[in-house]
Amino acid sequence: MTEREERGREDARAVTGYVHSVETMGTVDDGGIRFVLFMQGCAMRCVFCHNPDTWLRLGREVTVDDVMREILDYKPFFEASGGGVTVSGGEPLLQHRFVRALFEQCGAHGLHRALDTAGYCKHGCFESVLDCTDLLLFSVKVVDQEKHVRLTGVKNDVILANLRLAAERGTNIVVRYVLIPTVNDSERDLCDVAKLVASLGDRVEADILPYDRMGVSKWKQLGLDCALDGVPEPTERDLARACRVFREHSVRLRTDFAQE
Ligand code: SF4
Repeated sequence: MTEREERGREDARAVTGYVHSVETMGTVDDGGIRFVLFMQGCAMRCVFCHNPDTWLRLGREVTVDDVMREILDYKPFFEASGGGVTVSGGEPLLQHRFVRALFEQCGAHGLHRALDTAGYCKHGCFESVLDCTDLLLFSVKVVDQEKHVRLTGVKNDVILANLRLAAERGTNIVVRYVLIPTVNDSERDLCDVAKLVASLGDRVEADILPYDRMGVSKWKQLGLDCALDGVPEPTERDLARACRVFREHSVRLRTDFAQE
């Protein structure tokens, strides 16, 4: 390695990011035991947000080196279980330089890298992490633009363009759809998102996740009015109906709820 390359690596390890919290032995985000890093900051304001405490760019400032030291302590567990590292948020891509530098380091140590994002960031920021991401967990809130603005506070054209870009690049993608009764579970909403996933090609899978009300208490603790206060969690039947619509559009599902 040249002196210049060595200096570049040192600079990358010194990149800092703002972190909300860490889960060292996570099991739900994507296969095996995983180190899950929740980054601070998000420009969206989803009414169903599970982590409103990540919205502001506060948190603990750490370097890539700090996080890597922590990750490497658990490496044997990730290797033995087929796990790896997941970066989530908030919206991690608001700190894309940190994510890229961290993923490069993880790659150098042979660790699997998953990025959990809602894709609301500039194309350049999004594109900059694709070649060092092994799996993209891409959260689609709803396809209808007007409804998207009502539910999240922002338009979704940049988001959908980023999703298409990742699919064109051949990135492994799981589109995640949090099913919220009366909010995004109409037949039209489900058909729209199923068609979208189907249009991205065979490699892209979908995961329908049941909305859970745990976030409501966080909103209350933060003194925020939660618009979903009276909204129930989906039933098995609701989930099965959503899965049926996805299957009808030939979408591969990670978890299938087959009974209606
Ligand atoms: S994108 Fe995620 S973190 Fe941001 S507001 Fe929506 S649900 Fe919350």
